Amino acid sequence: MNTTVAPAPEPIPGAAETSIDVTGLTAYTVSIIRLAEAKGLRPTWGQPHGNARRVSLNADGPHGASGSITIGRTSGKVLRAEPAAPEPPLGAHHFGAPTPAGEQPAQTRTETPVTTIAHPVQIAAATRARTAANVARDRFAGPDTIRALQSLAAHFDAAATACDAYDGTTNEPFVQMWRSLAAALDLVTAHPACRFPDTVVDYITAPLTTTPLPTLPRLLPVSEQHTAEETTLRAELARLHADTAAADADPERWFRAVLNILAKWKRLEGAVRVDNSRPCNRARVAERHLKCIACGGSTIRFTVRETAVCECGKGQTWGDVMVCDCWGYDCPAIPRDTTN
Ligand SMILES: [Zn+2]
Ligand SMILES: [Zn+2]
Repeated sequence: MNTTVAPAPEPIPGAAETSIDVTGLTAYTVSIIRLAEAKGLRPTWGQPHGNARRVSLNADGPHGASGSITIGRTSGKVLRAEPAAPEPPLGAHHFGAPTPAGEQPAQTRTETPVTTIAHPVQIAAATRARTAANVARDRFAGPDTIRALQSLAAHFDAAATACDAYDGTTNEPFVQMWRSLAAALDLVTAHPACRFPDTVVDYITAPLTTTPLPTLPRLLPVSEQHTAEETTLRAELARLHADTAAADADPERWFRAVLNILAKWKRLEGAVRVDNSRPCNRARVAERHLKCIACGGSTIRFTVRETAVCECGKGQTWGDVMVCDCWGYDCPAIPRDTTN
């Protein structure tokens, strides 16, 4: 159980409600719809086609713009985003809402974007991506890691540029942004020495998705020094998460501080992993990660895949005995040789 809970982000006025039903959509998809509305577009649901359904984005008025995003029916994910054709053929205004009487028909619209002023949440997300790029460039590391950090910086910069480019006429910038962030995440995972957390993308997109900031899993170290360090870092991060005034006043400085704490966390996580694998710590690691549902003991044998038997004789599932935040096969209290 996590002892710290990230504070919910301040709701963004006007961006929190949508006029259409967003049930079952991913946070990212909802953010696109919210932003489109913030830009003056009027998203409406189109007819479903096979496994996909479509949201039409329409803005009426002299600068009328339209386009659509195709969303997976069950996944709720954005599959494709299509801008409106710059000069639609006659009768192409088929995306949804009819043009109100007295307004210019869609065929005569110009290519003028709805607005070129970035929405505050858009600026916040782009700033975080740019800050992550600067942190990656400034980070000191060996030659191999430096190369990964440089690529990482390029992906974060590309994400920021794409986010800036959103003007309400098409979702293509968000598709580009998401691609760059996915590439960044791949690098972060493949190069732990970069000391970026895999939650970095969640921090960058949080202003768009309005989802709570990520929390830290429990490391459950056996050494007192590591335990003290974990407590300190957790408290520092909680303080930064709660300081929304600092995040608003100087977002670059705030996010740098967050990434600095998370870099220290990555290092601690690696040290705990090494410590956990020492045979002399085996019993103490088990005490922190495992607890029998019958006797509360932690001398447990993992016999068959996903089944565990305590020395008291009680058989249970892995999920029952694990009182840690580990993913099943990653738990240091579960011996490697029994998991195959
Ligand atoms: Zn037991
Ligand atoms: Zn565990």
